Amino acid sequence: MFIEILEKCIGCGLCAKACPLGCITIENKKARIDQASCNLCRSCLESCKFEAIEFPEEKKQPASDLSEYRGVWIFAEQRENKLLPVALEMLGEGRKIAEVLNVPLTALLLGHEIEDLARELLEHGADTVLLADDPQLASYRTNPYARVIASLVSERKPEILLIGATTLGRDLAPRLSARLGTGLTADCTKLEVEREGRKLLQTRPAFGGNLMATIVCPNHRPQMATVRPGVMEKAEKISSTAPKGTLEKVGVKLLADDLKVLVEKIVRTDKVSLNLEEALVIVAGGRGVGNQETFKLLEEVAEALGGVVGASRAAVDAGWIAHAHQVGQTGKVVKPRLYLACGISGAIQHSAGIQGAECVVAINKDKNAPIFACADFGIVGDLNEVLPQLLKELKGR
Ligand SMILES: Cc1cc2nc3c(=O)[nH]c(=O)nc-3n(C[C@H](O)[C@H](O)[C@H](O)COP(=O)(O)OP(=O)(O)OC[C@H]3O[C@@H](n4cnc5c(N)ncnc54)[C@H](O)[C@@H]3O)c2cc1C
Repeated sequence: MFIEILEKCIGCGLCAKACPLGCITIENKKARIDQASCNLCRSCLESCKFEAIEFPEEKKQPASDLSEYRGVWIFAEQRENKLLPVALEMLGEGRKIAEVLNVPLTALLLGHEIEDLARELLEHGADTVLLADDPQLASYRTNPYARVIASLVSERKPEILLIGATTLGRDLAPRLSARLGTGLTADCTKLEVEREGRKLLQTRPAFGGNLMATIVCPNHRPQMATVRPGVMEKAEKISSTAPKGTLEKVGVKLLADDLKVLVEKIVRTDKVSLNLEEALVIVAGGRGVGNQETFKLLEEVAEALGGVVGASRAAVDAGWIAHAHQVGQTGKVVKPRLYLACGISGAIQHSAGIQGAECVVAINKDKNAPIFACADFGIVGDLNEVLPQLLKELKGR
């Protein structure tokens, strides 16, 4: 969908001023929109006094079609035949939404030889698990997964479909939303639902994290969102011995076109990227660590505590550690029992990632550093002195 500048444009520049992304320029007394950067927010449309901007209307699904869609679905991502924590987090969130809408909660499970995972989902409160079990689905590939899910959604019409904002989910969800002709809100940190209008209120950071935007998808179904891992609460295991939900095995029909991409081998790049969100102990370093070499000291402390190394964006940007270690708004949201923050000032974007930590201990040489406001224990001192002492103490135990 493209915005068009019409003949009526006099190049007054009001639209350029109104554009929050700065993607409008005035050239030869006429506005020019950088369509690649435009996010269709309509600010320019509202600012134009000359009706010189045309915004093609979206095609709406008729209301009768919308009412055919019922139920909440979550995509239960598994890797190497283990459910990802985000699958249970979405099950927890999906249950809350399904209760407000008074509809069943369904988990979609794709893979090969994973029936035990279907049981795990039922034990955690899914009303139905749709299990697509096929050797072709053993390793994730975009087209086979998109084919199976898109045909199930088209046939059974859920009103909401949630997918984890993992690497896989970030690949799968846009493909699905395009195939299904519906909208997608990526990387949501909060979900609510309006009982009356059955609208999913999808909240996510916008404009570089400077404000939170709540997005709705009023005219199309299903309402699709990816959900940031580590933010929502996991569904609890139901205490009764026999879960009430049902397991339904669905047929898998793939086309030759879907199978063009072959997975030859899976190469693990960084184990931290897989387990930072699950780690019980994180020793994180910021700009105060000073260099790549000193990060080795943090690694030793992390190892002695049975934990992993995290980092602030400043440390990642300095190239001392890979982005997979970054904690915060644009990194990982973590929930360890112990978070040891070394040489991290505690900027809001960093603290946003450690809200779920049980105990935060900060080492910083500035006693006024904001990190102390969210720390349970603080050590005012130079990390180059404190960490070696701590390591000696830990090794002596
Ligand atoms: C849209 C957006 C998203 C962002 N996302 C993230 C994110 O996900 N994660 C993130 O971390 N940041 C993020 N940031 C960046 C964030 O705003 C901060 O710039 C960043 O967190 C600062 O990192 P820092 O605390 O390591 O560095 P600084 O703010 O420079 O702090 C370094 C600290 O180290 C202390 N120090 C220095 N030397 C020593 C020493 N020898 N011993 C002990 N203490 C010492 C100093 O007193 C200081 O408090 C984001 C910013 C924006 C605008």
